[in-house]
This record gives sequence, structure tokens and C-alpha cells, in this order.
Amino acid sequence: MKQAVKQMLREIEKDVLYTRSLTGKKKFSDKVMTAISKVPRDAFVPEHLKYLAFNNHPLPIGHGQTISQPYIVALMSELLDIKPDHVILEIGTGSGYQTAVLSLLCRQVYSMELIAALSQSAQKRLAKLHYNNIETLIGNGYAGCPEHAPYDGIIVTAAATHIPESLVSQLKPGGKLVIPVGLSSMQQQLMLLEKDLNMQTQVSSILAVSFVPLIDRPVEDKNHV
Ligand code: SAH
Repeated sequence: MKQAVKQMLREIEKDVLYTRSLTGKKKFSDKVMTAISKVPRDAFVPEHLKYLAFNNHPLPIGHGQTISQPYIVALMSELLDIKPDHVILEIGTGSGYQTAVLSLLCRQVYSMELIAALSQSAQKRLAKLHYNNIETLIGNGYAGCPEHAPYDGIIVTAAATHIPESLVSQLKPGGKLVIPVGLSSMQQQLMLLEKDLNMQTQVSSILAVSFVPLIDRPVEDKNHV
């Protein structure tokens, strides 16, 4: 394993320990940490930021969006408790980094992105890296993707103003939804919604996070990195 990747895993492990009283986890599962170690994050960031690819930080990916922090990608993957036969819906493909991590943990990933240019470049990147259990879709993730529902897990990688009922309804019994919720970037909470076998839902608030907002309107696309 490359030295930079080992260092990134150590940084994630430090954050895991630091947040253990909030997440209830003092260690993430081997399968999640292995998936993180296998996905080449440098292939998902812009050329001029490659030297920062293995730092435990978010980075700009153009169009006003960011690739999430590796610790957060690991945490959200861990909270979904993904099994090899699971079908997962991701809202917010962005660079495709979280998508690639998910693809190593489950049977099929559907990933929706509102900004067509980001979706198309993520799709090309993921194909080139031979992730072949991923379908990218262009559309507004607030509505989810009923065509392929129900899902074992749904992950939203941008902050919503509320937990969308459409996403809850597309979860299987026993399914989990991981979503940052909050009105301003200073006041978001990562939420875990679990649907039990009787279709009852339980929501827990995990920790404070800072995501770009989920967009719920036509995009005025300015490609600033
Ligand atoms: N998981 C991505 C994070 C990208 S940031 C990564 O690791 O690279 C969040 C992404 O959500 C952005 O690409 C943004 O364009 C997308 N997004 C914002 N609102 C959306 C919506 N309503 N539906 C689908 N995608 C949306």
C-alpha cells in the first residue's frame, strides 16, 4: 500500500477515535477500511490538486462542489451497514469517489447527480477504473429514483433541508438512509434513519457535519474550481 494511503487511513482512524462518543464506534469495520484503502482518491480530484488527494479533507471538484472528506465517506459507508447483496442509491455522485467505495461493498449502486457535466465525467472515470456495478443517473435526487426502488440503503452526499419522504418510501424494510440535514452549512447534522421490518422508522442524529447544500432548483452552473 502506498505510504500516502497508509497515512490517510491513520488520519481516518484518529477521527474515528475522536468521534467515538458520538458515533458509538471506536473502530470502523475492516470491509469499509479495506474499500477506502483500495479506491485511488487521486483519480477523483482535479489534476492540480492531486498532491492533496490523500489528505483527510474535502477538496473542490469544480461546479461549486466538493469531494467529501475520507473520514466522512468511511463513516457514511459504515452507518449504512452494507452487505454484499445490497442495492444502494446514492444522491450526489460528484466526483464518483463515494460511489466507488460503495461499489466495493455491495452488489449494485445507482448514483444520481443533478449537474450533467459532473455525472458524465464521474461515469467515464468509474468505467476507466473498471467499477462495473454502478449506474449513473442525471436528475434531482430529492425525488429519489423510483424505477430501481426499493433499496437496502440510500446515501445523500449533500445537505438537505429535511428528510425527503420520497427517499424514505424507496427504502426496503430493514433499510437505512444516511443524510446530512440542516438549513445552513454551520448547522447540519448527519442523520441515520432506519426502517424496521414493520415499516416503522427511527431517526438518530449522529454528528455535526458541513456539506454543500442539496440543490432543489435548475442549476446555474458556474465551473469555478
Ligand atoms: N459524493 C461526492 C460528493 C459530491 S458533493 C464525492 O465524494 O465526490 C454533492 C454533490 O451533490 C454535488 O456533485 C452536487 O452537484 C450534487 N447535488 C446537489 N443537489 C443535488 C440534487 N438535488 N440531486 C442530485 N445531486 C445533487
